[in-house]
Amino acid sequence: MGTSIPVVKAILQANEAVASENRAAFDRVGLLAVNLMSAPGAGKTSLILAALAHLPPTLRVGVIEGDIASTLDAERIAAHGIPVVQINTGGVCHLDAPMIRSALSHLPLEDLDLLFIENVGNLICPAEFDLGAHLNIVIASVPEGHDKPYKYPGTFQKADGVVLNKADLLEFLDFDLEAFRHGLRILRPDVPLFIVSCRTGQGMEAWAEWLLEHYRRRRERHGP
Ligand code: MG
Repeated sequence: MGTSIPVVKAILQANEAVASENRAAFDRVGLLAVNLMSAPGAGKTSLILAALAHLPPTLRVGVIEGDIASTLDAERIAAHGIPVVQINTGGVCHLDAPMIRSALSHLPLEDLDLLFIENVGNLICPAEFDLGAHLNIVIASVPEGHDKPYKYPGTFQKADGVVLNKADLLEFLDFDLEAFRHGLRILRPDVPLFIVSCRTGQGMEAWAEWLLEHYRRRRERHGP
């Protein structure tokens, strides 16, 4: 029984080491890396595309797309002329740091300011694996219900920012915003919450501005 624990630890430790290398590679070029985690269908790809419309056109954005299979999301991103690499995990339910490291050789890192990493749609496993990103973002959406912070505390605990998407549906669904907020505050009293709709653009300005502020701070500290 006791033998499985050291194995899991070793995997996570090896992951940590590569995550630190990834972070160092990002810092060398003054790039901000943002890991997006959510259940399937919460709007990770849509959030990337909606943010692009509100970020300055001079900000150079790249994307790593994580999916179990297919290149559908990467194609949506590439259609906007954005450098994108698809990672197909072949059934694995999360990205890990070595997968990111191998994707990085396919991206023009020196020519990027902001790298979005879209994790595999899953609210449990991705939070266990540090990718080397500077910001871990958890996206929930109104149709999923307000109980997500209560049911997946481990993932929300890792969040540097939380986005509640599909806010345009609040008036049609029995989503208790105060219960959601309360569940989040119990875990993370100070984590910023962005209430947005990728469909209508609601809240997108504040979200883009927050990302930009983090980018500027990172650039001051690590910029070339
Ligand atoms: Mg997607």
